[in-house]
Amino acid sequence: MPELPEVETIRRDLEPLVVGRRIVGVEVDAGTIELLAGAPIEVLRENLVGRQFTSMGRRGKYLLLGLDDGRTLVVHLRMTGRLVWREREAPPEPYERARLVLDGGSDLRWSDLRKFGTWRIVESADEIVRRLGPEPIDGDFSLAALRAALAGRSAPVKAVLLDQRRVAGLGNIYVDEALFEARVRPDTPAGALSPAAVRRLFASTRAVLERGIEHRGASFKDYVDGQGNPGQQHMYVQVFRRTGKPCYACGAAIERTVVGGRATHFCPRCQPRARRRRAPDAR
Ligand SMILES: [Zn+2]
Repeated sequence: MPELPEVETIRRDLEPLVVGRRIVGVEVDAGTIELLAGAPIEVLRENLVGRQFTSMGRRGKYLLLGLDDGRTLVVHLRMTGRLVWREREAPPEPYERARLVLDGGSDLRWSDLRKFGTWRIVESADEIVRRLGPEPIDGDFSLAALRAALAGRSAPVKAVLLDQRRVAGLGNIYVDEALFEARVRPDTPAGALSPAAVRRLFASTRAVLERGIEHRGASFKDYVDGQGNPGQQHMYVQVFRRTGKPCYACGAAIERTVVGGRATHFCPRCQPRARRRRAPDAR
């Protein structure tokens, strides 16, 4: 599932190709009603044809396509959604569901194998993104914000990091990677982390996301960038889906477990169970 680095890569790809373009047509596969939460396809046509894209933003895992009437097309890729720019004559995408025909001879194409992706046309993107937590890369995420998100919680630290209301944009891949880099066991109760561990986790969270963007996202399965090409980050992961393989840091076999209902990968040696904080001679 695309996370912040994947969505940000798409945003950066599409921005120069799409902003300033006018939508001259909308083509939607008849079976794709879920895309708009059940609203008829005509709604897309009525609201989008004739509009010009004025901006290409992102918040968490949402793409925010600004329209010249002040409204925003908010796109969430969910499991398998892809938003790809193509020249008009390019062959259809696999599982193509919708197409915004742009002036100048190109299209913005939507494909979605599982059909969980969503498009919403809203007066203000705030209607959808206001509940999201701080933005880890270029927003208001801070050590204090992370500390506050974790403090006093008995839920596993991994579950808290996945909660979009605590921190926006993280998903299964980057949370496992950030916890590894911070040497924190994923099932540690969030509130039990030492101040030093929270500091390491703050730094590692940003580091893994920035690296993910640098490598143009992780293409374990469905993700492609804004021009339909896979990313590279899946070749750089330390623990995610490396079950049984040797840890690059210590050689121990990476283990897989389930935390908060999600497959979770960690190194049993680099990420030891947090020791209870007791008197130094207690055993
Ligand atoms: Zn290790």
